[in-house]
Amino acid sequence: MSLVDLPLLPLGKGRDLTAERGVECLGELPSASDPDLVARARAAKAALGERVFVLGHHYQRDEVIEFADVTGDSFKLARDAAGRPDAEFIVFCGVHFMAESADILTSDDQVVILPDLAAGCSMADMARLGQVEDAWDAMADAGVQDSIVPVTYMNSSADIKAFCGRNGGVVCTSSNADVALEWAFEQKPDAKILFFPDQHLGRNTAVLKMGFSLDDCVLWDPLQPAGGLTREQLESARMILWKGHCSVHGRFSVDVVDELRAKHPNIKILVHPECPHEVVLSADLVGSTEFIIKTIEAAEPGTTWAIGTELNLVQRLARAHPDKNIVFLDRNVCYCSTMNRIDLPHFVWVMESLVAGQVVNQIKVDPDTERHALVALQRMLDLPGKSHRD
Ligand code: SF4
Repeated sequence: MSLVDLPLLPLGKGRDLTAERGVECLGELPSASDPDLVARARAAKAALGERVFVLGHHYQRDEVIEFADVTGDSFKLARDAAGRPDAEFIVFCGVHFMAESADILTSDDQVVILPDLAAGCSMADMARLGQVEDAWDAMADAGVQDSIVPVTYMNSSADIKAFCGRNGGVVCTSSNADVALEWAFEQKPDAKILFFPDQHLGRNTAVLKMGFSLDDCVLWDPLQPAGGLTREQLESARMILWKGHCSVHGRFSVDVVDELRAKHPNIKILVHPECPHEVVLSADLVGSTEFIIKTIEAAEPGTTWAIGTELNLVQRLARAHPDKNIVFLDRNVCYCSTMNRIDLPHFVWVMESLVAGQVVNQIKVDPDTERHALVALQRMLDLPGKSHRD
């Protein structure tokens, strides 16, 4: 069994440096019950002043978002970091692939810090470089590799972005996936797309935005020999979707949509394109986190909405818009467990360490990976039109 086939370690236990998570936090953290945590975080932030820039992803806990200089989705935050070349330290309250992207887009002398190294992304972990290289070789054996353009979602590790950079591919976000696919289809005659890691974003974009049929899409299962596909299936496919998904957005179901529609006849269902295809089909509106936020901001008072995205964001939207009736599109609690690893004790620990002159939990992408990942990111930045928010 190769290293890439090992099962993921439980969150925060043991060491698995090839995964986005499963890395122990080695720090001496303050106790979560310390009543001075908020004051300590404020004091450390004040002491660091302009030297530190704190980024908070939309899915972060309130206790952490409170200390963010800017909030946003992963791509906006990476751009925001790049827009602060004067900041010595970028503390990224998000997950591992986001901190990697920030490191790639900032200068070499800026230090990017992830408060808990176990804050990975289960979706990103579903496409590991060794698996993708094996798939690429299998596609060569099947005689289709020459026609394939790889496209990776922003929610992937730096080495997967670098793979795309090296092989004529591009990065996309959930806002520009259709533009990225159009670009990719233009790169080769009879091009096929290998899309990873999120099968749902790939399928929803290909079918609902680009007019492909479900039969044009096949699913590559990295745990099956030859992806579980025949040569004929690969030859006739236009979209080869990697069998990965978001463990948060994959939970939403048509059952709950039907239940809510029966209870609230005028309800609008608003979901993220990482949701399964049937859920997106049953929704009224689909779009990125930025789209979801803007849609709720623009909604009429008194309207009722069910939102299918991470719960921290939905709760904040509900609190910010008390004149609208906002409910969560799941019967159960549905936080992103890895995002939630970044809590106040971890934040205080990294900030106080910086005040004491010690850099902890730095995320550093190696120069070769960075160079190739930047090629794929730059191709995305050069795409026409749309914003690049995910
Ligand atoms: S919400 Fe989903 S895609 Fe985003 S970090 Fe969590 S597991 Fe990854």
